[in-house]
Amino acid sequence: MENNNLDWDNLGFGYHKTPARFVANYKNGEWENGGLTEDDTIVLSECAGVLQYAQTIFEGLKAYRTEDGRIVTFRPDLNGERLENSAKRLEMPVFPKEKFVEAVVETVKANADFVPPYGSGATLYIRPYMFGSNPVIGVKPADEYQFRVFTTPVGPYFKGGVKPLTICVSDFDRAAPHGTGHIKAGLNYAMSLHAIVTAHKNGYDENMYLDAATRTKVEETGGANFLFVTKDNKIVIPKSDSILPSITRRSLVTVAKDYLGLEVEEREVLFTEVKEFAECGLCGTAAVISPVGKIVDHGEEICLPSGMTEMGPITKKLYETLTGIQMGRIEAPEGWIKVIE
Ligand SMILES: *Cc1c(COP(=O)(O)O)cnc(C)c1O
Repeated sequence: MENNNLDWDNLGFGYHKTPARFVANYKNGEWENGGLTEDDTIVLSECAGVLQYAQTIFEGLKAYRTEDGRIVTFRPDLNGERLENSAKRLEMPVFPKEKFVEAVVETVKANADFVPPYGSGATLYIRPYMFGSNPVIGVKPADEYQFRVFTTPVGPYFKGGVKPLTICVSDFDRAAPHGTGHIKAGLNYAMSLHAIVTAHKNGYDENMYLDAATRTKVEETGGANFLFVTKDNKIVIPKSDSILPSITRRSLVTVAKDYLGLEVEEREVLFTEVKEFAECGLCGTAAVISPVGKIVDHGEEICLPSGMTEMGPITKKLYETLTGIQMGRIEAPEGWIKVIE
């Protein structure tokens, strides 16, 4: 398949079918080896476990074209590890992380023509996922599963420049204490849709979720972790068992400490403290870090001193260092970059 009809600059974040995807089935208590297929469709029983009781988990990562033309992915072993943890929590069979990385590599290689050129800002988004595939009507885990990996080219996140976000404190909860907030499961997103549609209707870009038990502590947004910067340039990361452990956020912590020499505190963050911070960013694979300019709590506005026109200085340094590492301009810590070809 040809890729030269794709306009890398105007891709956006949407699904574009690429030639190959990886499929492996779990049956009779074991995973088959699996392999690549051109078939982008799935035929399932009308009673498949995933359709009835939402037994499905996923991952998201990117393949990048580096300055010297190689194709790399960023810490795919951590995505594999996180999918293992998600599987355990939803009573699904573990797809081993070593096989996960092999499947990602195979899929990206087969779609190498769709990895956007260096400098375009576009990337090849990789979506591994797994779901219960056999009929389930009494509530229980499925007996059969399918693991798949597909890819889709996505455009630059900050098209037309950085625009700090305005977010609102949500009236809905994302994750219960001892619930499933710490795993990457479709169910967490299904129930967040009403909250995000409501936020958008009210003119906000994103929701800030507080802890469900007390509504006093900052958790995260629907799909990104918070990172705050204090007025004396310390990084503060909210800590909670119901936050999804973002690989981007964990990597930014290392960048802050080891590359920028900044102090990092991982601790509970009270919402009442937020007005004291100098910068706020949302961390995730899609944007790496998106600056937040304003946080609105039922009409009360907190305007971050970093402002509504650009990234704050520390956010910018973090962004430039981590994207530099991903794109091969800055030397990466051992094991962070998986070269595909
Ligand atoms: C995927 C996800 C993130 C970001 O994680 P990364 O590994 O950095 O992409 C943050 N929060 C939630 C709820 C997520 O599902």
